[in-house]
Amino acid sequence: MKAFISVDLEGMPYVVIPGHLNLKGAQYEEVRKIATKITLVVTDQLHKNGFDKIIIADSHGPMVNLLVDDLPECVEIIRGSLRPTSMVAGVAECDVALFLGYHAKAATENSTFDHTYSGGSVHKILVNGVESSEFLLNAYVAGELNVPVILVAGDRQLLEDDVKTYAPWSETVALKQSYSRLSAKSPSLVKIEKDLRNAVNRAHSNFSEKNVQPLVTKTPVEVKLTLRDTHQADAIALLPFVKRTDALNIEYTTSTMIDAYKTFQALMYISAATSVMLERSR
Ligand SMILES: [Zn+2]
Repeated sequence: MKAFISVDLEGMPYVVIPGHLNLKGAQYEEVRKIATKITLVVTDQLHKNGFDKIIIADSHGPMVNLLVDDLPECVEIIRGSLRPTSMVAGVAECDVALFLGYHAKAATENSTFDHTYSGGSVHKILVNGVESSEFLLNAYVAGELNVPVILVAGDRQLLEDDVKTYAPWSETVALKQSYSRLSAKSPSLVKIEKDLRNAVNRAHSNFSEKNVQPLVTKTPVEVKLTLRDTHQADAIALLPFVKRTDALNIEYTTSTMIDAYKTFQALMYISAATSVMLERSR
């Protein structure tokens, strides 16, 4: 059996300031160690449950956050950010998926660093009418590949809003309860490790007993995207398959979820490039 783990940072415990999240941030080393420790605990428990191969997708920012010195032999790690299915690159070859350090979608109250992929570009994204978090987008891609998400650990608000609603079969571990965008309460690492090991055991039982399912959205897939700024919509609307419905809103349709996801990634690159172009012309 093969397991896939996608690791983000904003939903990790104790992460509350921007300095935790950037390569040059003052507190970045702290969060790298915590994220690595949590990932290795989950990896170890998966291995104890019979998963002989584990693929880890380092999935925040430039996607080179996890420390690689102590990775066990059963692990392969995917690093670097420009990849076909971003945070779920590698999931296709696995039997189950687990998401760690995940956070709530953009415009969520009381949730540290609420955003959806690009804080600078995305106000809202709807997939077939469902307002989607990174968790949902990634779970839909995994679902189209017939891979169920069996465990999500991260911000309690994400778990309450999206995981319990759309993937109730998935085990959850709250790593933090946010008081605002920039503060949160978290359990000790000792408690988190215990909770994660128990959750992995339950998730494996759920999988063995066929009490989990891939999360599938219908096709063709309709995507509605609300951007942050008009220059981003101006650039994206140049594409012939994109329909602009007003100043900040665009829509497009694809025949598969994976195509919807890849298109969204490409639109984020266009949006970011337009913002950089604007900045450079100051
Ligand atoms: Zn992130």
